[in-house]
Amino acid sequence: MKIGFIGLGQMGSGIAENLMKAGHELVVWNRSSEPAIALAKKGASIAQEPGGALQTDVLFSMLANDSAIEEVGLAGPLLSRAPSGLVHVNLATISLDLARKLTAAHETRRIGYVAAPVFGRPNVAAAGNLVVVAAGANTDIAMVRPLLQSIGRRMTVVGDVPVQANLFKIAGNFMLAGAIESLSEAFTLVRKGGVDPHIFHDVLSTSLFACPVYQGYGDAILHERFEPAGFPLRLGMKDVRLALDASRNLSASLPLASLVHDHFIEAETAGLGDKDWSSIGGLLARKAGLGSGR
Ligand code: NAP
Repeated sequence: MKIGFIGLGQMGSGIAENLMKAGHELVVWNRSSEPAIALAKKGASIAQEPGGALQTDVLFSMLANDSAIEEVGLAGPLLSRAPSGLVHVNLATISLDLARKLTAAHETRRIGYVAAPVFGRPNVAAAGNLVVVAAGANTDIAMVRPLLQSIGRRMTVVGDVPVQANLFKIAGNFMLAGAIESLSEAFTLVRKGGVDPHIFHDVLSTSLFACPVYQGYGDAILHERFEPAGFPLRLGMKDVRLALDASRNLSASLPLASLVHDHFIEAETAGLGDKDWSSIGGLLARKAGLGSGR
């Protein structure tokens, strides 16, 4: 299949490469040229402008946020360049408002549209082990299902209206943010009281909390390993804001999201925006008067 790919950041580059490995022909575009050149060395063609990536059977996009999608034109003008039969798969984590706007914009122009946000960090994306949650019309899903299966270890259709997948992803990332907050607070608490946080983490992450989220983020916070950022705090803050927007949108209160958001603001002000979002663990330790826990 001929696939266009827009947005070759930390996540997009690995996903695009996996689509090539699955035997597809890739036409890629990225705002800065280096990631596209790197993929061209592995066999992709480079589109000179975003519209070039639409001259394909399926377009994938993996852009940073709502404004990047608007700026590239995927919510409006660029779509008039789409050939008949194109299906656009949007992998990014975006707001419910933009999700609805994208659905309407594609419907008006009779372009297929599937929201397929993903769970997993860049190394997971590169290994083809993402968890993909997809929503869209049955015919569009049928066309892209094998492609989505080839980039992840699990692909689940969670609805027939794209925004449903975006809400799913926002709620999932809110849970991750909550886990990081609770780990950070608990580590600070035990350290203040003289309990060895390494033993605390070892016991709990191999028993009651034996899952990748507590194990991975627990290790990162305990060893203050916040670089290179798998998921930069600036993007984590964007996702917590999406959760807060969704809570207002749906009248479902999320008090924990407000609290975490405040900590992210403090962390960003302290210059941690490009560090991993688990770096709030170090921030909370400092606030409690603790030095480095490493
Ligand atoms: P990233 O490394 O920062 O890449 C962002 C991509 O968006 C780059 O290709 C960047 O182009 C492009 N971009 C940003 N602003 C743009 C603009 N105004 N115009 C055109 N292109 C623009 O981010 P990422 O980690 O790949 O994340 C991408 C999406 O996946 C986000 O929605 C994120 O929330 C979601 N996600 C991330 C993770 C994770 O662990 N990182 C996990 C799951 C989901 P340049 O290369 O030119 O900057």
